[in-house]
Amino acid sequence: MNGRMARAVRQRLESLAAAGVTSLPWAEPRQDSQGEPATRDEGIPAQPAGQASRPNDLPADLAARESVPAADAAGRGRSLALLKQRVIDCTRCTELAAQRTQTVFGSGPADARLCFFGEAPGADEDASGEPFVGRAGQLLTKIIEACQLRREDVYIMNVLKCRPPGNRQPLPDEVANCRPFFEGQFGAIAPEFICCLGTTAARALLQTGEPIGKLRRRWFDHVIRRPEGDVTARVLCTYHPSYLLRNPAAKRDVWEDMKMLMRAMGIPAD
Ligand code: URA
Repeated sequence: MNGRMARAVRQRLESLAAAGVTSLPWAEPRQDSQGEPATRDEGIPAQPAGQASRPNDLPADLAARESVPAADAAGRGRSLALLKQRVIDCTRCTELAAQRTQTVFGSGPADARLCFFGEAPGADEDASGEPFVGRAGQLLTKIIEACQLRREDVYIMNVLKCRPPGNRQPLPDEVANCRPFFEGQFGAIAPEFICCLGTTAARALLQTGEPIGKLRRRWFDHVIRRPEGDVTARVLCTYHPSYLLRNPAAKRDVWEDMKMLMRAMGIPAD
């Protein structure tokens, strides 16, 4: 088993375990037409880049159907684990699925009050399977701590669950393909607050073409559809940590946005 396949198998087993699956049936080894065991790496999509691959197509209402009633953190966790497995299996964006090391779903408590919503995994996240672990992620951790929160108290996720090659911006079709997943995550978690990091996240969530400079310093509502009734998250947009690494002067603006967030959450801000 090569490293890539081993990672895919590990990711699948972890996600099944989180969904409560504790045992798996044995399968007979598959035989090829000559009677030899099949050895092709079945986990890697064989379609050429650019062609649609639809075996794991998600119905548009996945978000609602995957968000099983989640009265408690365990229920929300199970909803997230099911959704995570769908993400692991997804090959809708053929180019991204063919090039990813692994999917990057999200991290944090299933009943978090606050979700940080970024753009897409970079090289460090693609290698580790965790969101925001590179330089931008370290800065995000500092921002979270400056808000008197701990990273493990908040949920962190991205619009895209796969790394775009060369860290290019997500394409509109890719955002559309991932929409059921990120809406499903919000549906399971039902956070009170969502903080969009950068233009891609803000535009994807608010479905607007406005630039980030026009979206920050204002509150928006995002209606989260859940089987037991809609809930509304309050949304604040700010600059992406990667932008701050290139433009440190903008940290002052982000701190103003974070103070708005803290006040709304009932955290003392000077
Ligand atoms: N940038 C993002 O938007 N997300 C990550 O996980 C890392 C960098």
